[in-house]
Amino acid sequence: MSHSNSEPEHRQVLVVGAGPAGSTVAKRLAEEGLDVLVIERRQTVGNPAQCGECIPGWGEMSDAFPLVKEDAWLEDYWDFPSHILGQYLEWMRIFSPSMKEYGFELDCYGAHRLQFDGYLADQAESKGAEIQTGIELRKIQNQTKLNREIYRTNKGSFTADYVIDASGSLAHVARLRGKGDRPKLQLPTIYAQVTGHDSDSFDIFMGSVAPRGYAWIIPKGEIANVGIGVHYNSLEIPLKQRLDSFCEGLGLNIQSYGGGWIPLGGKVKSAVDGNVLAVGDAAGLVMPSNGGGIGQAIVSGKFAADAIISNLENDLPLTNYNKILNKTMAKQLKISRRSKNLFWTFCRNDLTTELAMGILGTNGLRRAVDCRRPLIIL
Ligand SMILES: Cc1cc2nc3c(=O)[nH]c(=O)nc-3n(C[C@H](O)[C@H](O)[C@H](O)COP(=O)(O)OP(=O)(O)OC[C@H]3O[C@@H](n4cnc5c(N)ncnc54)[C@H](O)[C@@H]3O)c2cc1C
Repeated sequence: MSHSNSEPEHRQVLVVGAGPAGSTVAKRLAEEGLDVLVIERRQTVGNPAQCGECIPGWGEMSDAFPLVKEDAWLEDYWDFPSHILGQYLEWMRIFSPSMKEYGFELDCYGAHRLQFDGYLADQAESKGAEIQTGIELRKIQNQTKLNREIYRTNKGSFTADYVIDASGSLAHVARLRGKGDRPKLQLPTIYAQVTGHDSDSFDIFMGSVAPRGYAWIIPKGEIANVGIGVHYNSLEIPLKQRLDSFCEGLGLNIQSYGGGWIPLGGKVKSAVDGNVLAVGDAAGLVMPSNGGGIGQAIVSGKFAADAIISNLENDLPLTNYNKILNKTMAKQLKISRRSKNLFWTFCRNDLTTELAMGILGTNGLRRAVDCRRPLIIL
C-alpha cells in the first residue's frame, strides 16, 4: 500500500464504501476482469449496522421497479442464501394513532446487516476485487496540472480511472471533492435490537409516537429491530427517549442501540460527475415514503458497473448510468417523495394522521409505501 508522502497508488476502479452498493459494483467489475479496490472505513464490513434490516425479496423489488425484471444478472444476484436472510416477512401492518390496523402482503426478509453486507463483500472478493477495511477517505486533492485527483486516506493515497461514491447518505466523495450533486434532506433515526417481540409481520406505527415520521418493528427471528425516524423539526424530545418509551410501552427489552441518517430528498439530479459515479444512498436512491434503500443500492451498483464496462469496451459515455437510473427508478422515487411530502403536510397531529390514513385506506397506504401513486392523488 502507498504512503502519504510517496506517489499515489493507481487503480483502475476505486470504490469508496463496502455497503450493498459498493460490493455490488465491485463484484460485477471484478468478474469482468477489472482491477477494483474497495476501501471501507469500518474495521468489519457491515458493523455497526445502520439499518432497520428489512431486505426486499426479488418479488418486492421487481414489483416496485418493473424494469429490473429484464436484468438476469440482478435476478441471479438476488438469490441470497437462506442462512443470511433471517426471517421471511410475509405481511406489513400499518397502525394509525388509535391503533387501527391496515395490513397487506409483503415479500421481504428481516435480516442481519452484518451478515448480509459481509456476504456481498465476500461475493466481490471471490471474483477478484480487493477490499481493504479500516481505511477512510479523508481528503481529495485536485492536481490540475497533472489532470488528476488524489484520494487521500489514513493509510495511503490513490488515483483511479474511475471512482465510485458508495459512501452512503452523506456522499463523502462528492463532499470532499466539493462538486457533484449530493442527497438532500436527511431524516434522523434511532433503532434498537430487542427481545420480547413475538409477531412475524413488519409493523409500522404512525402518529405522535414519531411525528411526521414513523416507528417500525422488524422481526429477525429471536430478536427484532425497533426504530423511530422523525421529521428534523420534531427533535425537541430526544430520539432515544422516544424509542425507550415506545419499547417500554410494548414490553420490549432493549439489547443495543444504533442509528443513522436516511436521505429522503429523492435521487440526485446527476449521479455522474466526470469519472465519479454515485451509487446507493450517495445518489439519494432511498424511497422517501418508506426509507428503504438496500434494493436500489444493489441495482444502482450493477448499473454503474455496466456503464464503466461499456465506457471501456465501446467508448459509451458514463452519463448513460444516470439515464438508466432515471429510466428504471426516477419516476417511482418521485412519486414516493410526493407521498412523503403530502404525508408531512397533512399528518401534523394524531387527528389529521388518523383521518388521512382512513381516507387512503389499505390500498392507498400500500401504494404509497410501494412508490406507487396513492389512489387518492391520482
Ligand atoms: C436507521 C435506518 C434504518 C434503515 N432501514 C432500512 C430497511 O429496513 N430496509 C432498507 O432497504 N433500507 C433501510 N435503510 C436504508 C439503507 O440502510 C441504505 O439505503 C443502504 O444501506 C444503502 O447502501 P449503500 O451501500 O448505498 O450505503 P451504506 O450501506 O451506508 O454503505 C456505505 C459504506 O461506506 C463506508 N464509508 C463511509 N464513508 C467512508 C469513507 N470516508 N471512507 C471509507 N468508507 C466510508 C461506510 O462505513 C459504509 O460501510 C435504513 C437506514 C437507516 C439509517
